[in-house]
Amino acid sequence: MMNEEEPTVMMYPDEDYAEEMAEKILDDFSASNRGSFQTNPDPVYTVTVRGVEFSAAHRLAWHPKCRRWHGHNYKVRVDVTGELDGSRRIVMEMGRLKKMIEELADKLDHRVIIGATEHADEFAGERSEDVVRCPLSSVTAEDLATWFVRWIRDHLSEDERRRIRRIRASVAETDGFSAAVSVTA
Ligand SMILES: [Zn+2]
Repeated sequence: MMNEEEPTVMMYPDEDYAEEMAEKILDDFSASNRGSFQTNPDPVYTVTVRGVEFSAAHRLAWHPKCRRWHGHNYKVRVDVTGELDGSRRIVMEMGRLKKMIEELADKLDHRVIIGATEHADEFAGERSEDVVRCPLSSVTAEDLATWFVRWIRDHLSEDERRRIRRIRASVAETDGFSAAVSVTA
């Protein structure tokens, strides 16, 4: 005769125990919500715009491979965290945020990007529409993310400036490599 094993089912020790646990979890949940609303009557929200792209060339003088001129199809993502505008119930208008990101991306698109103090002689006679000078000393993904964060911060309205707490920008060089920076607005 075959030795058939009973199928095993994971059970709580008993039904009362399971019920007690379920109640406790619900209590904890509502208690933690009450707690957070008591200490933080104005919760913060985050809006995200992603998928803005630009193609550009750069080089990193110190890097064994990347010191040669090369390009990336950069992808930008920005997260803006803040309190809601009382009447419209938004942190900021997402289309407006996207336009801001696109405005800087358009300045960089199909350009050679150089650091603030780099290649002064090399590009002296270059047509200015081909070359963009980054306000930072180099053109790493970290530098570009910092540029985007500053750009957004500088273009916020007075009202947005009052409510927005944090701006985060992420710049991806490839699907696998990206850098992000957050600043308190
Ligand atoms: Zn690169």
